[in-house]
Amino acid sequence: MQVTGRFAPSPSGRMHLGNAASALCAWLSARAQGGRIVFRVEDIDTARCRPEYARRLQDDLAWLGLDWDEGGDAPGYRQSGRGAVYEAALARIAAQANVYPCWCSRAELHAAGAPHAADGTPVYSGRCRALTAAERAALSHRPAALRVEAPDETISFTDGHYGPQSENLARECGDFILRRSDGAWAYQLAVVADDAAMHVTEVVRGRDLLGSTARQIWLHRLLGNEPPRFFHIPLFTAPDGRRLSKRERDLDFGALRERYAAPELVGRIAGLLGIGDGSPAAPRDLVSIFSWDKIPREDVIVPPGLL
Ligand code: GLU
Repeated sequence: MQVTGRFAPSPSGRMHLGNAASALCAWLSARAQGGRIVFRVEDIDTARCRPEYARRLQDDLAWLGLDWDEGGDAPGYRQSGRGAVYEAALARIAAQANVYPCWCSRAELHAAGAPHAADGTPVYSGRCRALTAAERAALSHRPAALRVEAPDETISFTDGHYGPQSENLARECGDFILRRSDGAWAYQLAVVADDAAMHVTEVVRGRDLLGSTARQIWLHRLLGNEPPRFFHIPLFTAPDGRRLSKRERDLDFGALRERYAAPELVGRIAGLLGIGDGSPAAPRDLVSIFSWDKIPREDVIVPPGLL
């Protein structure tokens, strides 16, 4: 089977080392299997994403020596230009599952004191699911989010790197949002609709998204799509344990590009992932030595010299 990987960053700031590690790993994993790789810009959050960041991302990735078989910042590969695909996916999901309007505000969701799922979002109480038709009609003048009822079903899968995982969607996640009340598409819906439409067979990304995977597998099944294989990579942290964030200027690519030549940086990122000894390398030099068993599972502490 032809492997199709993808790298799907959100252009909400300049890339940092952790993002570059995800890009490199996704690229190496696909290339090591003779596969293809797609580049997609996940800019549905228009308040945080900017076109100039998308251009910078592409430029930074090209500078590292990563190339793509498909994608870029053309509308077809930018989530902000793919509303029709998400509309169609929503209709198909709504034909299979209970999709309903939700008027709860953020404050109400938190005030409900519900337990929190692994990714920090409150497990929804189901309050708007229980509204009667008359109650819905009375609220219908206000914009509503759309939620899907999570099934009382345990989704089990094997992460290619972290091994067996399972999550009961109703208990641990709760009904989740597919479209926000301001009309913006939710990440969970967009990412699944896109991975399906782009025939992605392998998703490689940071471990912070491991907790989204069960939901995504379930949505793939509702859409009648064979879910891709998922591989998560460890998170990169600063020596004080802080997670790298696009807001930390000292870790961004602008600063790194001034200090290092591309092969030096590629070699060091790969070395932190256990691929090679850290000496300068182009991504294509690492394809033959890439292997998932070399990659650590615990968080990777970025040495102070790289900050
Ligand atoms: N766009 C997401 C991010 O940059 C990644 C989504 C994914 O890989 O599934 O965090």
